[in-house]
Amino acid sequence: MKCTKLGYFTDDTIDFPPLERLEKRFVAVAECGQEIPCNPCVDACPVGAITIGENINHIPHIDFQRCTGCGICLGVCPGLSIFMAHRKGDTGWVTLPYELFPPDEGEEVDLLDRQGKKVGRGVVEKIRRLKQHDRTLLITLRMAADLIHAVRGFRRSG
Ligand code: SF4
Ligand code: SF4
Repeated sequence: MKCTKLGYFTDDTIDFPPLERLEKRFVAVAECGQEIPCNPCVDACPVGAITIGENINHIPHIDFQRCTGCGICLGVCPGLSIFMAHRKGDTGWVTLPYELFPPDEGEEVDLLDRQGKKVGRGVVEKIRRLKQHDRTLLITLRMAADLIHAVRGFRRSG
């Protein structure tokens, strides 16, 4: 997985979960491309779904079938590089780690892609703070299903 010179990934470089797994429940997607010594995601996963291998500089691999969608790895990654996605019919959800002043549940927001470009509108469905995390929140956005691989941020528009 390689990111562009500007520091973001393009869809064709990311290892996305297969459709049948995305439709079951939330599943983690790592967009971590820097070969640096880092592995808190590996240690945090309670089911051993993330592996890096013997060289700590390697990028992580997620076993999508093993991942339970608990969200713990999202909040321990210092690079905010892990997301979760889920889809059912025409509806999709993306959960992202968030460290700014949070929006409100139920709020309508602009959905942004990896370059910060608006790609649609969505709703803040849920905001969670897990006990494994410090102040990082997990924000779940609801959107059209075909946006789940593109949306990696949002902007309050009220
Ligand atoms: S979401 Fe939970 S189960 Fe899935 S990879 Fe992350 S920590 Fe592991
Ligand atoms: S914790 Fe984040 S930055 Fe570090 S290896 Fe895992 S995904 Fe990459």
